[in-house]
Amino acid sequence: MKLLKHSILILLIISICLNSCDNLRLSSDKDQNIVIMLSLDGFRWDYPELYHTPNFDFIASHGVKAESIIPCFPSKTFPNHYSMATGLYPDNHGLVNNTFYDPGRQEIYSIGDRSKVEDGYYYGGEPIWVTAEKQGIKTASFFWVGSEAEINGYRPGIWKVFNSSIPYGDRMDSVISWTQLPKEERPGLITWYIEEPDGVGHNFGPQSSETEDMVEHLDSLVGVFIKRIHELPNFKNIDIIITSDHGMGETHGEKYINILENIPENWILRVLGYNPVLFIDPNEGYADSVWAVLNNTTDISVWDKENVPDYLHYRDNPRISKFIIAADSGFSIGTKAITSTSVGGAHGYDPGNSDMHAIFYAIGPNFKKNYKQESFKNIDLYPLICELLDIVPEAVDGSLSRVSGMIDP
Ligand code: AMP
Ligand code: ZN
Ligand code: ZN
Repeated sequence: MKLLKHSILILLIISICLNSCDNLRLSSDKDQNIVIMLSLDGFRWDYPELYHTPNFDFIASHGVKAESIIPCFPSKTFPNHYSMATGLYPDNHGLVNNTFYDPGRQEIYSIGDRSKVEDGYYYGGEPIWVTAEKQGIKTASFFWVGSEAEINGYRPGIWKVFNSSIPYGDRMDSVISWTQLPKEERPGLITWYIEEPDGVGHNFGPQSSETEDMVEHLDSLVGVFIKRIHELPNFKNIDIIITSDHGMGETHGEKYINILENIPENWILRVLGYNPVLFIDPNEGYADSVWAVLNNTTDISVWDKENVPDYLHYRDNPRISKFIIAADSGFSIGTKAITSTSVGGAHGYDPGNSDMHAIFYAIGPNFKKNYKQESFKNIDLYPLICELLDIVPEAVDGSLSRVSGMIDP
């Protein structure tokens, strides 16, 4: 790939510059500081160990690398991007799954339904861009869950309707151009998002040549991004975070469970979600019968909403169904019989499963160099970014104390 050929040269140039600029490093000017956070969907924590990622390795040695960042349950895209943005568990921000039933409006929210995705009603808590805008810091987003909705009367100053056909390079061009806006228009916080390597991980599994190619392509893209940032006149005021919402587990077609196999249709009011987490609401009078069947099914966990274990922080929100089913690692669940035996990938499993853990890298004037951060929860990102922007955080579930060690005092 063309990008890859330039990687070594890029690293060399940046390395020389960063070292020679060490002594010149300005104390960070909080007024001018820009935080850019990029999420690479489904980038598992150990891809940089499995694949060739010189640009991520470069960030690790000149900035911060966490062992991993731990998602919330369920380890799906929407609940987690919104937890990253708000510092809240899904139970507390209300985006409890990619698909759920909202008893308030008696409607189904789903990520493919634009009218719901763009409706602020569904988004509880306060995303970081709202906290920033309220405190006078401009914000911009080239995609992020929640950024397309007006929340508490605010949106990012610049935002885009999600469109996966926009090339990643074009997204990067916009992000770079926003850092050069006149001072009074320039955002202090920029989020952007790329929907890979989630797609290849689903289709081919986390350990496949297709995932390898995509991870290495994204690594090159990150290399170009870091180089372009470094060439900017204000690069000494730009902090970059590169992270992800969850990892990816390998699945095998033969390890599949049709959870409705022994449940008659008339027992069920609603089944929502998709592998490996399903929501079930039974029809009145059938809760015990449904429970008895599910409880006897192997290779899944099933919880009555009231008895979800504490560590999952997933119990109180009215959008959570009566029964929650999560497949065990390596297993898949659905509501129909299937015959496929192909290998692929899935996420959504218990965050205790390390295959669900994701990456966290950071580089810039406010981050320590060559700093190894222990694993932390993605709800800690919100207080971390508030600290970088020098703004007052809302009271959230995340904690600055778990991540403050990475900040250069
Ligand atoms: P999943 O793997 O099912 O948890 O969801 C991943 C998918 O979410 C990606 O492939 C994207 O297509 C989709 N996605 C991400 N952000 C948005 C958004 N803002 N609006 C609609 N879909 C999105
Ligand atoms: Zn995702
Ligand atoms: Zn996915």
